[in-house]
Amino acid sequence: MSDCLFCRIVRGEIPAKVVYENDHVLAFHDIQPQAPVHTLVIPKIHVESLARLGAQQRELAAELVLGVQQVARLTGVESSGYRTVANTGAHGGQSVFHLHLHVLGGRPLSWPPGLAELGEACGYPPAGHFAGLRWSSLGCSTLGKDRRTRWQLRRRRQ
Ligand code: AMP
Ligand code: ZN
Repeated sequence: MSDCLFCRIVRGEIPAKVVYENDHVLAFHDIQPQAPVHTLVIPKIHVESLARLGAQQRELAAELVLGVQQVARLTGVESSGYRTVANTGAHGGQSVFHLHLHVLGGRPLSWPPGLAELGEACGYPPAGHFAGLRWSSLGCSTLGKDRRTRWQLRRRRQ
């Protein structure tokens, strides 16, 4: 797609720090890294999201997964471990509508992600329980990394 951000990166119209590339996929550093290693693996053709990957695109799906392995090796997180994420659609938090797999690593990553945001987005009260976990106190303006970290610490102490 001509005006798609990641298609433009594939065409070299927007610069990116490329980590790995083959005929099918391109991997480059995320512009706003959320971990010491934060790389995106994308198909070179435009596919809107994971949900739009067709049954006839099995090989491309495999190329993306193998691209993740290459990135993990090249960025040095293969043995320490890493997380692979595909945000899909509105509730998945997708912001760029060209399929991409995030590869995050270089530090321990907590789990589960985003319960605080879930509470906010679904209109849960500012404190309460969800899935057996207690959460507290997050306003819409406080969804930054620091607040999330604090929330996670609070949860662990209980
Ligand atoms: P998502 O929210 O899952 O759609 O992820 C989109 C990701 O693309 C975000 O992590 C952004 O930081 C990243 N991003 C946006 N623009 C660029 C860019 N020009 N180069 C590299 N990463 C980008
Ligand atoms: Zn695209």
